[in-house]
Amino acid sequence: MGWLRDWRRKRILGRHRIDDLLWMRAKKNLPFLNGLSAEEERRLKEFAIVFLAEKQLTPVRGLALSDDDRVEIALQACLPVLELGLHWYDGWVGIVVHPAEFKVRRAETDEDGVLHEWDDELAGESWPGGPVVLSWEALDDSGSVAEGGANVVIHEFAHMLDMQTGEADGVPPLPSRAARERWIEVFDAEFDRFCKDTDAGRETFLDPYAAEHEAEFFAVASEAFFESPHALMRDFARLYDLFKDFYRQDPAKRLKT
Ligand SMILES: [Zn+2]
Repeated sequence: MGWLRDWRRKRILGRHRIDDLLWMRAKKNLPFLNGLSAEEERRLKEFAIVFLAEKQLTPVRGLALSDDDRVEIALQACLPVLELGLHWYDGWVGIVVHPAEFKVRRAETDEDGVLHEWDDELAGESWPGGPVVLSWEALDDSGSVAEGGANVVIHEFAHMLDMQTGEADGVPPLPSRAARERWIEVFDAEFDRFCKDTDAGRETFLDPYAAEHEAEFFAVASEAFFESPHALMRDFARLYDLFKDFYRQDPAKRLKT
């Protein structure tokens, strides 16, 4: 079916484009898009156009999304797969956008059979097989991770990459068994070090939330990889190299410090 998809994508690209003014506004709002070569920029725009045509972006609770909002969500979602390919997001279509942080009801039964229920406030959430759920309010917060910003789009889409192997465990699909073994060794060592620092109350530039689970560490470190690559390289050099091989990108090289 590859030819059919290629044909449909060609048709989509023949009919849509991201105009220069919109692109300039997006680059101003998303400074980590700077430093891409002209060819990478062209490919990222094409990915974003196809992404918007193939995914179903649904604002809820009275929220309306502007063209800028839609394109900025798509650009941020597509940046991590720029060298991997858009097929990494195959198999699901739904993206739901809430106006603000949203509440979800959690329930867990403990070993004594007691059911605990609580509400969580979330800026984003991703489900295997979709949808990805985002808070529009959190989208505005795309400043550098090193300066306390966060990137909820990259975060949730990193979870989607991680979940390609079935579960969210911080280990995305890798090309070989050796690559997988290397990943687990380096990733676990960096995660342990981070958890120790967090437990000891030592300040790190990554959100302490990343200590909750390997999958969160992968998603939070992925935000940093694209938004604050120099800080990640400084504090987690081995993790940076691992991500550079996986994403096949070197954001520290293209972004100024
Ligand atoms: Zn997460």
